[in-house]
Amino acid sequence: MAPRLRRRRHKKSPSVAPMVVTPPTVVTPLPLTLSKPGPSIDAHGFFSLDRNVPGLSQLILQKLNMKSYEEYKLVIDGGTPVSGFGFRCPQEMFQKMEDTFRFCAHCRALPSELSNSKVLRHCKRCRNVYYCDPECQRSDWPEHRKVCQELRLVAVDRLMEWLLVTGDFVLPSGPWPWSAEVVQDWNTWFSMRGLQLDTTLNAMLGSHAMTSLWASVGRPRPDPDDLQGSLRRLLTDVLSRPLTLGLGFRALGIDVRKTGGSTVHVVGASHVETFLTHSGDYDELGYMFPGHLGLHVIMVGVDVSADFLHSTSASPLEPGTIQLSGHRSLYHDFWEEQVETGKLSYPDMVAAFHPGFHASLNLMEAWLPTLLLLRDYKIPTLITVYSHQELAASLQILVNLDIHITTYGANPFASLKPEQVYSNPNKQPVYCSAYYIMFLGSSCQLDRQLEDKVDGVV
Ligand SMILES: [Zn+2]
Ligand SMILES: [Zn+2]
Repeated sequence: MAPRLRRRRHKKSPSVAPMVVTPPTVVTPLPLTLSKPGPSIDAHGFFSLDRNVPGLSQLILQKLNMKSYEEYKLVIDGGTPVSGFGFRCPQEMFQKMEDTFRFCAHCRALPSELSNSKVLRHCKRCRNVYYCDPECQRSDWPEHRKVCQELRLVAVDRLMEWLLVTGDFVLPSGPWPWSAEVVQDWNTWFSMRGLQLDTTLNAMLGSHAMTSLWASVGRPRPDPDDLQGSLRRLLTDVLSRPLTLGLGFRALGIDVRKTGGSTVHVVGASHVETFLTHSGDYDELGYMFPGHLGLHVIMVGVDVSADFLHSTSASPLEPGTIQLSGHRSLYHDFWEEQVETGKLSYPDMVAAFHPGFHASLNLMEAWLPTLLLLRDYKIPTLITVYSHQELAASLQILVNLDIHITTYGANPFASLKPEQVYSNPNKQPVYCSAYYIMFLGSSCQLDRQLEDKVDGVV
């Protein structure tokens, strides 16, 4: 992800108190999840920043007042930050966050590598990438021009995200006046929320929180249309996951009126899905299915955030309620310990956001037991990917595993917030859950049944 500020739903403390933010993480096709214990993908992801910009990982730790990757990991896992971590005032925090983006987008020089008279200056259009001199900027323009406009949005969104962190930006909520059949995509969702949403966004634009944010960040406040666009993108980013689960429920025919409630497992969940996530974040999924008899969302993954490890209750849910819980475990272990023993019920659907098994052999190896388990137990499954290229690669892998793909395509509830590739800003930004794949069971079940029959005859 782009630098992701720590989510706090309560109001922020007075501005002189130290604040805690999470350091930048990376958007790469590499997920941060389901790695085997031991050297984790997190660490690989973090230090791989240095492949594009030598020294960048150190610069980030230094700017965030951290001594080591272990401290960084502790914070993104939801642990208590070490003493000395934090910032004295919002201005300092935003300055340091911005400093972690200061490297020449063309020659990759860090500030410490420049001669005395030089400073890195940002591109005036996007205010997102930096250059050590006009020469580097000119040489970079043919590449940078392809993404400059999108990166301008990224630079606004990463500051506006703070309003979600502090709890000042509260998303519109409440039962859906329209049926889920009508609300097929963001356009219809925005029309449905219409007036209520306009009121919320206008109130936000005129709020004290908005004024003090732009007074702290060291750059001019964008015009109201830009700010409103940013709030809308942030909203789609938060609601993309619950609404994508709803899309899966509909397409895979999940019965949400099951006595005792329905269960969905989010597999390979990490801090991205769980860091200061609250049950209210999934209310929108409930509103999509009025009359549901309880929805249980269980996040399973080795990097589930520490503040999310609520225990899972095996008792039936009250109709209309949503329960979120988390397990820090590999999915096939969780399955053996919790599902096979009957402690928890079978999932009605399994979802994985950006599993990334197409990205490397190591990840494929980690995911293989889970994919085979889902196939052989015929669990309705939904996965999402960042790009068309990843979609094609993932489909190929699933087909090779004889997995029966029921449908795939562009996700109508993809996040609309662009994510820049942190250490390589001229790479095309990606969108979370841009595409989905759904599958169920094996593609050669029919063949196998036939073979069995033939064997029987012979
Ligand atoms: Zn340069
Ligand atoms: Zn630019």
